[in-house]
Amino acid sequence: MRIFDLELASPCNARCEFCPQRFQGVKRERPFLDETLLDRITAEIGALARTERVHAVLCGMGENLLRKPLVLRALDSLQRASEGRIHTTLVTTGSPLTPELAEHESFRRLEAIQVSFTGVDRESYEDLYHLKHERVIENVVRMNRLLPGKIYLRTVDLERFRAHRAEFSRFWNERGIPVTYSALHSRGGHIGDPEAYPGRTRPFRGCEIFDLITFVSSDGLVLSCCHDVLSANVIGDLRVSSLAEIDARKRELRRIGFQGFDICRSCTDFSLSELGRGVPQA
Ligand code: SF4
Repeated sequence: MRIFDLELASPCNARCEFCPQRFQGVKRERPFLDETLLDRITAEIGALARTERVHAVLCGMGENLLRKPLVLRALDSLQRASEGRIHTTLVTTGSPLTPELAEHESFRRLEAIQVSFTGVDRESYEDLYHLKHERVIENVVRMNRLLPGKIYLRTVDLERFRAHRAEFSRFWNERGIPVTYSALHSRGGHIGDPEAYPGRTRPFRGCEIFDLITFVSSDGLVLSCCHDVLSANVIGDLRVSSLAEIDARKRELRRIGFQGFDICRSCTDFSLSELGRGVPQA
């Protein structure tokens, strides 16, 4: 399985407590991925998917649905170039997940929609995200009716909400929506919350996130991983190199025994399932 994380947008309309956007900010030169570049990248990824298992995830540090035409363009190109063989996931806060999206064939062919949602009631959710609780729930439940079986929630398993976990899962499960939980992690040291530091770090040696995932920023740069919010660890520039060339650079770093990036020293992201995002649990 090859995984491509595509950051079509780096700005976000949410202000989450556990996001680097709230701290040092996210450093990109371009807030939105250039369309011509997007077409080239997605054509190359789609072509790969004709011969091997490829998962394209529209995610990154921003809310990609701030540019819905860009999301639809990316999905359309990925599906066309792969002749329908690519696996696709969209990650969103759910706030711009409006029903007209489901009118588009490329959107309907999304395999999964992961909604970031943490907070057990209106107050705790709005404190964390600064988005409208009621509107997000309405959007998510409605989209699940329009496109059943595609949506699941990804929730940061914060200690202060653990006592309400069963009740929270029940609320969503009753609406046909699975909930998955992930631990708060440090985003390569960009998050200061002590809960994000469980007393050990993820070693770069053997880091599957680096090995399996190609992270493309809204500048068109391949970075070490999604935790490089300052765009400090550039593996390659897709404006001048192909994905295949950049892939070869990553393998070369491994071959020469590269010891890792500065952010790896504070990395506490231990998550990676087969799809790189955890398996939904009902
Ligand atoms: S910060 Fe380093 S160790 Fe952590 S996921 Fe990124 S490349 Fe891997």
